[in-house]
Amino acid sequence: MFFVSDDVVTKSGRRYRGRLAPSPTGLLHIGHARTFWIAAQRAIERRGTLILRNEDLDPQRSRPEFARAMIEDLRWLGIDWSEGPDCGGPYSPYSQSERRNHYLQAWRRLRDSGFIYPCICSRKDLAQSASAPNDADDEPIYPGTCRERTADPFHTPAGVNWRFRVPDGEPIEFTDLNLGRQRFLAGKNPKNDFGDFMVWRRDDVPAYQLAVVVDDAAMQITEVVRGADLLKSTARQLLLLHALGYGAPGYFHCELVRDAAGARLAKRHDALSIRYLREQGMTPKEVLALAGWP
Ligand code: GLU
Repeated sequence: MFFVSDDVVTKSGRRYRGRLAPSPTGLLHIGHARTFWIAAQRAIERRGTLILRNEDLDPQRSRPEFARAMIEDLRWLGIDWSEGPDCGGPYSPYSQSERRNHYLQAWRRLRDSGFIYPCICSRKDLAQSASAPNDADDEPIYPGTCRERTADPFHTPAGVNWRFRVPDGEPIEFTDLNLGRQRFLAGKNPKNDFGDFMVWRRDDVPAYQLAVVVDDAAMQITEVVRGADLLKSTARQLLLLHALGYGAPGYFHCELVRDAAGARLAKRHDALSIRYLREQGMTPKEVLALAGWP
């Protein structure tokens, strides 16, 4: 399946709407600074609107103090948004923990149209699926054991995991506005790029993939700017968008900032957090230079 996602905005003439979508599970680091700075510049250059969405979906990992810190650090860097949890806007609320009804509606539609199925396999992937997967801790490929199960007895999602039935063995292709043509193979073969992925966890928390797609559509996002660790998630999200009947935004994935050893920066690198560098007396410009900007 090939998805044309890049020309939607220009061709439809819709006004540019971009978003910053951090998860408050730690302090933002210079990798975020770079990605969010690029997102902000793209919105400014296109005279668009920038939105801050607080992705506090996972109650176990999200902390209000990190949500406060990310707002402060982004403002300190000089990034401005005009809709968000701190300033409101036409698509409120802007915190995922307050948007459950939207996700539930999407779950019902996917259940009724047969795109998702209940999975009773006991797996340790529960903890992973509410957070955005990056390459190292991506969701394992599901072997398809529960694929033929029917959703009929379920009126609410709680109690089992819910998975999206991907087109088995099919490539999902799209053009990234920064990194060019992308191609990922979906299906249950362990060698594929991703399998039937989680959309709702048995502990009744919607998964990252579902929440992001529902919010990007509801908030009329025309372009998604984020780190290249989420490229494979874009392929999953295109399938979800298609299943829900939504058009796809454009995608611009930024190269990741790596540490001296070439490893991806994670939130645990506290010494590279914006907060720490700021406390050391660095200016926003110096932090952005350290992040490789421009
Ligand atoms: N909330 C996700 C993260 O912090 C990013 C989601 C996205 O940009 O789609 O990794």
